[in-house]
Amino acid sequence: MTASAIPATPAVLNTETASAAAELTLCRHCDLVQELPPISAGEEACCSRCGHHLDARHRQPVLRPVLYAGSALFMLLLANLFPFVSMFAAGNSNEMNFFDTSSVLFTEHHQWLAVLVWLFIQAVPAACMCAILYLKLGMLYALPARTWVARVLYMLKPWSMVDIFLMGLIISFVKLVADADISLGPSFWAFCLFCLLHLRAFQVIDRRELWSKIAPCPTPRVAAHAGKTGLAQNLKLCQVCTAIIPVTQTHCSRCHTKVRLRQRCSIQNTLALLIAASLLYIPANLMPIMRTVSFGETIDSTIISGLVLMWQDGAYPVAIIILLASVVVPVVKILIMFWLCYLTALPLNRRQRYSTQIYRWVDWVGRWSMVDVLVVAIMAALVRFDLLMSVYPGTGALVFASVVILTMLAALSFDPRLLWDPLAEQAGSSS
Ligand SMILES: [Zn+2]
Ligand SMILES: [Zn+2]
Repeated sequence: MTASAIPATPAVLNTETASAAAELTLCRHCDLVQELPPISAGEEACCSRCGHHLDARHRQPVLRPVLYAGSALFMLLLANLFPFVSMFAAGNSNEMNFFDTSSVLFTEHHQWLAVLVWLFIQAVPAACMCAILYLKLGMLYALPARTWVARVLYMLKPWSMVDIFLMGLIISFVKLVADADISLGPSFWAFCLFCLLHLRAFQVIDRRELWSKIAPCPTPRVAAHAGKTGLAQNLKLCQVCTAIIPVTQTHCSRCHTKVRLRQRCSIQNTLALLIAASLLYIPANLMPIMRTVSFGETIDSTIISGLVLMWQDGAYPVAIIILLASVVVPVVKILIMFWLCYLTALPLNRRQRYSTQIYRWVDWVGRWSMVDVLVVAIMAALVRFDLLMSVYPGTGALVFASVVILTMLAALSFDPRLLWDPLAEQAGSSS
């Protein structure tokens, strides 16, 4: 395939009006320069070669994100003010607040795990909502430091895990409902609304649109042609603000980030993180993730033994979810990431579109493995009846959290454009 045979016009979803080419963009996943047709509110443009999201326009681009992010912050405040969940068992009761999920871990001498849980479910989501509010209000009032705030927002986004925490709550309730009565407090419902609003706030903003309002996109000093790769035209993409800049330029003129042609030592870093995750996965499965004290008897449970226990108790849906999140997803993700690194070493690989889509899938699904760690945090905060029945976090929880974090970092350090580069090199040599 020659470079000129690559389709030049991006696929446009939900639109029949796209016609005249207006703006050029470079796909961050396959490096193809493409023309962006004008799109209306509610429409989205995707890459014609790899299917990656390129651009979107939203209705009321300032009002809706401000309302969603502002309401989400208010709901997070309410979630911290009132009782979250109460549990009644054998004549005893225990009330859990939202903040207890991290404070109990702290008092149980699992400080690192406590900090991680607090970051994932409180600090990072709150910071993201504040950043969206600041950036959108900044469009109206020209607030300073918006470039820095926008950079931080997209850096923090993958680490906001409120949706996973909600799944962890549901799993915990299903596990406990046979032995105890669970009563949901007002803060639980506030947290559910926070989750929903947080998700919507991210859905109604677009990176390209956001940056276009912070500063106009710089025009590259060399001509760019649609249908050719950035590599073939000595152009590179600023991964932060989506600007196209010449390879000779070291820093982006819009967001001032250092821009590289490809992520530095992408394969080496990815492999190192994957090997570390694979090595840690062994103790993560051997060490107890949770210690349960029931009528004076202490039971240490690993991920697998906990799964077997749930299966024997007949909690099949929960057992399947934990099996998928804690066993299947990390293992499959590590194997797929190794396979993707191997593909980049092949001289010619004909499955770029397919492998790029798989990369996007593992990147998205990997963070859900954190659900088991959050279940431990919830159970430890909720089940506290001394010798009658209490749950304590195990060392395995922190080790397993490290495995998930390492696999997430591996996916972030992998540069999918390396899968497409042999194709561009072959096109260059044949023309
Ligand atoms: Zn693409
Ligand atoms: Zn930039």
